[in-house]
Amino acid sequence: EGRIVFEGVSKTFTRGVAQTAALRGVQLEVAPGSIFGVIGYSGAGKSTLIRLVNGLEKPTSGRVLVDGIDIGALSGRGLRDAQKRTGMIFQQFNLLETVRVRDNVAMPLRLDGISQAAARTRADEVLDFVGLSAKADSFAGELSGGQKQRVGIARALVRNPRILLSDEATSALDPTTTTQIIDLLRSINREYGTTILVVTHEMDVIKDLADEVAVMADGEVVEQGSVLDTFLHP
Ligand code: ADP
Ligand code: ADP
Repeated sequence: EGRIVFEGVSKTFTRGVAQTAALRGVQLEVAPGSIFGVIGYSGAGKSTLIRLVNGLEKPTSGRVLVDGIDIGALSGRGLRDAQKRTGMIFQQFNLLETVRVRDNVAMPLRLDGISQAAARTRADEVLDFVGLSAKADSFAGELSGGQKQRVGIARALVRNPRILLSDEATSALDPTTTTQIIDLLRSINREYGTTILVVTHEMDVIKDLADEVAVMADGEVVEQGSVLDTFLHP
């Protein structure tokens, strides 16, 4: 579990008469348990790609398969169930700043209808895993950027997803903190076999983190291969 397949996926946004082709015929396969990087400049289509995996966007044509499930074909209850296979982390963390860390992490479980006590117990487990137990009672707004991203990671993991999606998750962090977050993502992948799909414009993040990489430009995958072959061979 944790496989992602893009089958000839295109996505066009329409606003009035204006059309933007965000993705054009994208073909990708992310193996279960791998760390897959997508790199490209701003506007290349990276966010759109990742939002198609958790069903926040639907393809204009082609299919996105998450563990064989055509996520773009689902809606309502079926979509919400499929969305539990993925957790997502963001550049700006997307935490509720005036809510305690523990309750930020528990939020996805509360939305699933799990009791406050059970959700908080599970939140504390995951906070322990990301090394932030000491901050569970703090308000999210009181934390540093790196601590906020750990909370974001804990929230993304709280439902035990097989896939973790990272949209520029280190782009707001300094280099030292970036290295710590990369180490945490690697340990999640190693310990739980979680597939990690990371999109970024930062080459160093891909080099340090990913096994496989796809290079995107103007909505297309222009190069794809192992990180070693693509970037590190002379
Ligand atoms: P990246 O993440 O690589 O910066 P995006 O996927 O955000 O790229 O954007 C790809 C292209 O699609 C851009 O031209 C962007 O303006 C456009 N786009 C993305 N989302 C929308 C939207 N909701 N409505 C209209 N255009 C969009
Ligand atoms: P355990 O004692 O179960 O090995 P750890 O102390 O290593 O757990 O981790 C604490 C909690 O974090 C566990 O309940 C574990 O299920 C959870 N966790 C963190 N990341 C993940 C993940 N990617 N998949 C599943 N569970 C995770």
